[in-house]
Order: sequence, then C-alpha cells, then structure tokens
Amino acid sequence: MSTYAGFRPDITPLDAPFWDALRRHELVVQQCASCERLRFVPTELCPHCYSASTRWKRVSGRGRVYTFTVVHRAPTPAYQVDAPYPLAYVELDEGPRVPARLVDVDPGAVEVGMPVEVVYADVADDLTLYRFRPAAR
Ligand code: ZN
Repeated sequence: MSTYAGFRPDITPLDAPFWDALRRHELVVQQCASCERLRFVPTELCPHCYSASTRWKRVSGRGRVYTFTVVHRAPTPAYQVDAPYPLAYVELDEGPRVPARLVDVDPGAVEVGMPVEVVYADVADDLTLYRFRPAAR
C-alpha cells in the first residue's frame, strides 16, 4: 500500500473526524447542533443558522447520482492509469451532496438518478478514501 501516489488530504482539526471515520469504514457528515441540518463539506459555522455548535452524524452511505462527468485526461499521472473514469456528485439519502469517484461501473453506463452505495478504499496505511458503486434499489 506504500506505493499510493494519488490525492492526499491536508487534514485539519475541522475535518479530522471525517477522515478518522473513513479509516473505520464509516461515512459521516456534520450536523448542526442548533437547527440539526446536515452539511458537507465540513465548515466552522452552519450555513443555515450560523451556529458554531456541531456534531458528526454517521450516514447510510446510500444515495443517487446527482450529476457526473467522465474523466478522460486525468489531472495527474497517478490517475491516468484509471482513465476514463466517472466522477459524480452523489446526493446522499440524508440530503447532502458529496463529490465521489464511481467504481465498479462502465463509465458509459452511469446515469443521473442511479442508486449508489459507498465503498471504502484503504489506499495507504494511514489513509482511507470513499468511493461509490452501483446499488440495487
Ligand atoms: Zn444550523
């Protein structure tokens, strides 16, 4: 696993709980402790009520493709080996939309509204990423 040369996040105290959860193979999003709305990406303040009071909520990992594109020319050589590959925004069943790589699907078969579910990729000893794959509904 030490040969991983792809994306590495700059983990901060703000988003560390998100990355920690991925290492446990759990997907979490922030939940405002005042208005209880969910959000992604992590932010210091709730974009709805501006509360700084936040907790983390585990979500189902199920959702639908909200929009997508197919990458033919990868941004770095580390990803070119996988091209063409689909990138999407997945709308979670709980509401937030998360950017995601889609796996286990032919890029030409991806459709808006397609049901998907999270899978976890342990790409390095200290890094787990999430992906989404087609799911039965
Ligand atoms: Zn709020």
